[in-house]
Amino acid sequence: RESELLNMNMLAAETKDGKLINLQANIEIPEEVDSVLVHGADGIGLYRSEFLFMQPGRVPSEEQQYEAYKTVLEAMEGKPVTIRTLDVGGDKFIPKVNNLAENNPLLGWRAIRFCIEHKEFFKQQLRALLRASVFGNLKIMFPMISGVEELEKALAILEETKDDLRKEKINFIERIPVGIMIEVPSAAMTSDILARKVDFFSIGTNDLIQYTIAVDRGNEKIATLYEPFHPGVLRLIRMVIENAHEQGLSVSMCGEMAGDLYSSVILLGLGLDVYSMSAISIPEIKRIIRSVSMSEAEELVGTIMAMKSFGDIDKYVRNWMEEKF
Ligand code: PEP
Ligand code: MG
Repeated sequence: RESELLNMNMLAAETKDGKLINLQANIEIPEEVDSVLVHGADGIGLYRSEFLFMQPGRVPSEEQQYEAYKTVLEAMEGKPVTIRTLDVGGDKFIPKVNNLAENNPLLGWRAIRFCIEHKEFFKQQLRALLRASVFGNLKIMFPMISGVEELEKALAILEETKDDLRKEKINFIERIPVGIMIEVPSAAMTSDILARKVDFFSIGTNDLIQYTIAVDRGNEKIATLYEPFHPGVLRLIRMVIENAHEQGLSVSMCGEMAGDLYSSVILLGLGLDVYSMSAISIPEIKRIIRSVSMSEAEELVGTIMAMKSFGDIDKYVRNWMEEKF
């Protein structure tokens, strides 16, 4: 097993006809970096910073955040590390930070919506990120962006924080790539506009599917309605990738779908550039990518995009994958 893993790490995630795919890992705490490296990730595509805030008894100070970000950046030795700013609220209840009782928390005061209004709190995280940027290859990502005004507000706060640091003569990397999660349908629908304002997109399918089909991702009663291959979801993903590529942006996916065996060839055919998943899934997804060609993947996508229902698509894809692998 271990030697198999090492052998896989030596190989690139390259399709049979030579397209190179970037496979990255999702992490929640800095301690996971060892596993990320062992499984041969090309970088960290999603560091869920809210887990720093979920530890009992404390809200991390700027200094504590800085240390955590620096640890991850240093350990990754120049490989990209995408740190997502605080995604609080919704199903992520952090008592010391956000204790508002809402009727519809998933449609509520979540993530960037919360941070924009708690500007000083948000700036503390941005300061920690900017200060840590000199230790590696940092990318900053905003969660739950729903439209251009929200994005502009977040970008303005980032600029203001940079100005503060300049005044204090504190070093940071000036041109840190800034990206957004595409996980709200309105963001996907306006991705042509948003693409002009950022350096990259990362599709968060966990939320994008939930909001597109209006099905709570944590509610078991309606779990069968949670359909990654719903034509509505696939069309949105295709639209996001096309709009991003038109502006020369790279598109990542960091929702569960990116690490799903049955989705992997479809995502390839849709043109996804970066897959970010739990580190242990990387070797298996790499094996699949290495055994198909782009033309096969594009043909599969052409066929399923003409189908009418999740059921038809799901059955077709499962047969296709089982025949091939
Ligand atoms: C997502 O929504 O797909 C995602 C990656 O973010 P999270 O699961 O942390 O909401
Ligand atoms: Mg999300």
